[in-house]
Amino acid sequence: MTFTYDTEVALSTAAALVNTGRSVTDALATMDGLDTFLEQQRFSGSRTRTEEELQAVRALRTELESLWFAEEDDVVGRVNRILRRTSALPQLVRHDDWDWHLHATAPEAPLADRMATEAAMALADVVRAHELDRLGVCAAADCDGVVLDLSRNRSRRFCDTGNCANRTHVKAYRARRAGT
Ligand SMILES: [Zn+2]
Ligand SMILES: [Zn+2]
Repeated sequence: MTFTYDTEVALSTAAALVNTGRSVTDALATMDGLDTFLEQQRFSGSRTRTEEELQAVRALRTELESLWFAEEDDVVGRVNRILRRTSALPQLVRHDDWDWHLHATAPEAPLADRMATEAAMALADVVRAHELDRLGVCAAADCDGVVLDLSRNRSRRFCDTGNCANRTHVKAYRARRAGT
């Protein structure tokens, strides 16, 4: 494992959130889409299910997307801003079937704030470990997805939004055959 379990979960949720905005159909276009996303990510806590909540999550998605491609100093500034803005106060918690992990906001804080602090706390781990190069972009020519490479040997090149690895390998295979 590269980071602690809760950090890896938070990072993959952040990657999945960014990717909802980088695929052909926007999975967060509607409240139903947000419900499905949170269910998939097993993100619990209070909800308002208002348009404001949906828009705040969409704004966070944009914020995390620029963070994904930012240089270290910039990432640090952005992470610190999120932690200040949400008055993050790390507390060890255990709930549902999750073992001890950190929450930095109260369960009743706005959804986008809770998602933001979780991502920011995880990114703080990445910065401290000098592992920002684990945040990348999908190697498939026809895909804009972001990739989170948590593999031991840093071998992950494709996102998990579709079938990018397979598609690219089939294409390369066909190109090789056409060339012979
Ligand atoms: Zn939790
Ligand atoms: Zn991809």
